[in-house]
Amino acid sequence: MNIYPIFDRMLTRADKEQLLGQRGMMIWFTGLSGSGKSTIAIALERELQRRRLLCRILDGDNIRSGINSNLGFSPEDRVENIRRIAEVGKLFVDTGIITLAAFISPTNELRRMAARIIGEQDFYEVYVSTPLEECERRDVKGLYAKARRGEIRDFTGISAPFEVPEHPALSLDTSQLTVEESVDRILKLINV
Ligand code: ADP
Repeated sequence: MNIYPIFDRMLTRADKEQLLGQRGMMIWFTGLSGSGKSTIAIALERELQRRRLLCRILDGDNIRSGINSNLGFSPEDRVENIRRIAEVGKLFVDTGIITLAAFISPTNELRRMAARIIGEQDFYEVYVSTPLEECERRDVKGLYAKARRGEIRDFTGISAPFEVPEHPALSLDTSQLTVEESVDRILKLINV
């Protein structure tokens, strides 16, 4: 017998997914600065919206300025940064939302922690594998030049390591693929 009256229970993820007509999931982009994570996430969001699928991007602009504004770039803070992103992401996924996270997340340990928090079955690791030389040639924010001059310490790819993901669900080298091709590959991967 159910001892709780039905109206006392919070609605479940399945209820939300039924309402939205979609499955919640996390698409976790990882890759060097300037590799194309944000560009692909933004194009993917547009295409999902066009297909009437609800999506949310988490990126440096909306995370570092808000919930993680008290965090710096020490090793402990980098872990805490990703932990909070994963916990917030899980709330979106549990609401049935297709959630896109665009963070360098340079180590296997960080990405494994995120996958563990979110749940392996909802976690798609997309490695934006654009070579360092191409990222540095683009130098979107002028950060590589600064890092080369020694003005930024521990810059991923220059003075801090980037560990290549061991088993990404997908790899996208944007020196070889157009934005549209990358988006298509993700749509096929998530089967929408
Ligand atoms: P990240 O979020 O990984 O730091 P960004 O998306 O901010 O990278 O920057 C990638 C840059 O590369 C953008 O200026 C984008 O216009 C450019 N770019 C050139 N070709 C591509 C491509 N095929 N796919 C994605 N980005 C590309």
